[in-house]
This record gives sequence, C-alpha cells and structure tokens, in this order.
Amino acid sequence: MNLVLFGPPGAGKGTQAKRISAAWGIPHVSTGDMLRSAVQSGTELGRQVKEILERGHLVSDALVGDVVGARLRSPDMAKGFLLDGFPRTVAQIEILDRALGNLGKKLDRVISLEVPEKVTVERLLSRATAGDNGAARADDNQAVIRERLVVYRQQTAPVADVYRRQGILAEIDGTGTIDDVFGRIANALQRAGA
Ligand code: AMP
Repeated sequence: MNLVLFGPPGAGKGTQAKRISAAWGIPHVSTGDMLRSAVQSGTELGRQVKEILERGHLVSDALVGDVVGARLRSPDMAKGFLLDGFPRTVAQIEILDRALGNLGKKLDRVISLEVPEKVTVERLLSRATAGDNGAARADDNQAVIRERLVVYRQQTAPVADVYRRQGILAEIDGTGTIDDVFGRIANALQRAGA
C-alpha cells in the first residue's frame, strides 16, 4: 500500500501515521521529522532549513523533493510507505509522481483527515503549552501557528482537490478520540482492499 496522509497542522497526522504504519507494516515517512532531525544534528540541510521551519514557512519544493526522493529509493519501501507531510504543494504532487514513476510505483490512496480549524487551533495551542513533557515544538507558538494555517490554506489545501479529481482521496472525519479516527481510517483502507 503506497499511502499519503494529508491534513492541516494539528489534524493528528503524526499520531495516526504511527498507528497506520504499525498496523500495515509500512514505513512512516515524515518530511517534518526528517527536516527537524537535520536541524538538530546540524547538517548542511539543517542549517539551510532551520529558519524556515521556525517561521512556519515551507521549505522549497526542490529541497524537500530531494529528501523524499532519496528516502523512496531505500529498500525498506518495497512493501509500501506512508508519507506524512508531503506533498504539501501542487508542485510537490508532480515531483512525487515523477519519483514514483521512475521506481515503477504509484499512489494507492490519500487519506485526508478532516478537522475544523477551531479544533486544530485548540490542539496546536495546547501542544504549544505542553512544554516539559517533550511535545512542544519550536514552531508551536501562537504567531507561528497562525502562519502555518495561512500557508496551509493557500498552498496545501489545493493538493486535496487534485487527489479528489483523481479519485484516490479518502476523506476521514478526524474529530473524536485517537481510536475513533484510527477505526475510520482502517475501515476506509480495508474498503480500498488494503
Ligand atoms: P510538519 O511536522 O509536517 O508539520 O512539518 C514541519 C515543518 O517542516 C513545516 O512547517 C515546514 O517548514 C517543513 N516541511 C515539512 N514538510 C514539508 C514539505 N512537504 N514541503 C515544505 N516544507 C515542509
């Protein structure tokens, strides 16, 4: 199963991605995690993207495309994968299609977590104050949260329309408990033959 998990910041993508990855035995590929770990280990890539992440802006399509392209070529992708946080622009859809085409693969499903903005903002703000328990991120303060939502609406939301037209978008209600949401995703994937 080659999957994309899609949704606004605060939709619960990271949490659900871990569950899907464990249940379907496919690697969880999070561009946000990869970029944050590059920043933390102080690599050249990390130095290039640090400020962009801190501001809540998007890293360039070419840069993130290279990171994902390299990851998709690794042998552990043979059974499938779950992309989390990519593609995030319409241009990244084309970059992904090209990378998959070169490997003789295609996307099976795009799972879109649908959560009203009021709920995502509350979740992000509570993550911002989670502080000591390790859940807080450098990009989880109020000003940056607002910026990430603007970026999402302008640049990322149109991605769902493209996949809807292709007929591979599964729109999932992302409200309720973690188990509720996972149950809906599992049903949708089973219906899709996964
Ligand atoms: P995330 O953990 O998915 O919320 O990503 C955290 C940050 O990493 C984003 O706010 C962006 O700065 C950057 N990032 C992650 N994925 C992408 C992407 N596909 N394109 C551009 N920037 C990205």
